[in-house]
Amino acid sequence: MRCPFCDANDTKVVDSRILKEGFSVRRRRKCESCEKRYTTYETIEISMPNIVKLDGRREPFNREKILSGIQKACQKRPISTEQIDRIVENIEKNIRDISTKEVSTQEIGKILMMYLRNLDPVAYIRFASVYRKFQDVEEFVHDIQSNEQQFTISESHEQ
Ligand SMILES: [Zn+2]
Repeated sequence: MRCPFCDANDTKVVDSRILKEGFSVRRRRKCESCEKRYTTYETIEISMPNIVKLDGRREPFNREKILSGIQKACQKRPISTEQIDRIVENIEKNIRDISTKEVSTQEIGKILMMYLRNLDPVAYIRFASVYRKFQDVEEFVHDIQSNEQQFTISESHEQ
């Protein structure tokens, strides 16, 4: 790998560490010419299915969108960045496991809600209320009703 500092071609791996239960490797490299050190990460690349939106448009799977959706839902909740990262990883794995070429936004929404439901009631309601509004009002109302008690407790907790 080329040195990002001096552009030399010879760099040496000085340390390798396996991360994320063996799915990624972190390597410390040292340039043979300028002796500067830098880090590279090696991860597995698996193609993700395309996302089919409600209006029928297709777009490539975007991890960032899922991450920001979950972050928004978890705002000001006692949830660590690590917990969020783990969830995004699991969701990604779930979507990969569906192993079709296309996955609908509804399906992704359902997977997200499943994880949020187990994580935190407020985060779940926040996400569900925004998400479901646009597709199934009845289900949304039903959900709010069945979660009402939990919702009230958690919301007063938040203040
Ligand atoms: Zn160098």
